[in-house]
Amino acid sequence: MAPKKVVIIGSGPAGWTAAIYAARANLQPVVYEGAIIEKNRLQGTLPLGQLALTTEVENFPGFPDGVMGPELMENCRKQARKFGTEVVTDDIASVDLSRRPFKLTPREGEPFEALSVIVATGARANYLGLPSEERFKNRGVSACAVCDGALPRFRNKPLVVIGGGDSAVEEGTFLTKFASKVYLVHRRGELRASRIMQDRILKNPKVEPKWNSVVDEVLGDDKAGVTGVRIKSVNGGADETLQAAGMFCAIGHTPNTDFLKGQLKLNEKGYILWTKAGRTETSVPGVFAAGDVADDYYKQAISAAGTGCMAALDAERWLAANNLAH
Ligand code: NAP
Repeated sequence: MAPKKVVIIGSGPAGWTAAIYAARANLQPVVYEGAIIEKNRLQGTLPLGQLALTTEVENFPGFPDGVMGPELMENCRKQARKFGTEVVTDDIASVDLSRRPFKLTPREGEPFEALSVIVATGARANYLGLPSEERFKNRGVSACAVCDGALPRFRNKPLVVIGGGDSAVEEGTFLTKFASKVYLVHRRGELRASRIMQDRILKNPKVEPKWNSVVDEVLGDDKAGVTGVRIKSVNGGADETLQAAGMFCAIGHTPNTDFLKGQLKLNEKGYILWTKAGRTETSVPGVFAAGDVADDYYKQAISAAGTGCMAALDAERWLAANNLAH
């Protein structure tokens, strides 16, 4: 079988945008969108990425009335298919980027070859790992205040944000626009966020920090969703129950790079490193990275879509420059 010209691994906004551009450039892209298996469900890496796990998206341009995350991604997939993208519902389990063409091994089926690869596998939000948290995901438990904070269920209600980094303080500050009060629950006695952002949140009268505390259990019921959290002091103090309509985890993300097994250079946080400023090139020529798997900073659907476009154009130009585009 002839090598595929472009294989795109991942099916969030970066992957589909790369596919739309690559298909329209006549590169017959193949998207490995992920397998529908329990492991992927549990870790939040099912097909269609993180947007498939959210409800209404209000900040993606072009949708003045908002759009449901899964619908947006289904439409992107449809658009990619319309231009001739082949879609495979499976994971790429491993890659060999030390040979050319590259060798890709799916979770099921035979290994195959690819001339170029776009990695768009995203990152998954870290959660605390509590069973009660799992029960209330999308019913009060979220890992994205920017995505979900303005939903009616959170308006004028007390909310909880967990974490002490820039995301937690940014999301906590953002949530004060809608919430009656925001509890900032942090496991230590000081924040790691930048000074200016710390000052901003700690001066906000709507914010009450809960230092040296961890959430022990998310409280709620099937009808109302989240109604509160129980927090435990790490210093041995008494447990406390906070009434809240929502709990937002801002405790970092984990990029989905396990299958690469160290074959691409990563940054100190484990995200794929772009080796040239403003380009999607990685440490292996012919392999490009797009979306959250290479972005620990912006982490937005629209920025992921933008870098997906860039990766497809970079791949197209790289194939042409190496006489591989025919
Ligand atoms: P982060 O800096 O890694 O912070 C994660 C926070 O979560 C830390 O405070 C950590 O506690 C806490 N945490 C981790 N695991 C936990 C657990 N299991 N239970 C309870 N708490 C836990 O992640 P981030 O805030 O998402 O930021 C990521 C990057 O994006 C950073 O470089 C940040 O500067 C950048 N960013 C910048 C901006 C901005 O400038 N506007 C906004 C957002 C993000 P410890 O402190 O005890 O480790």
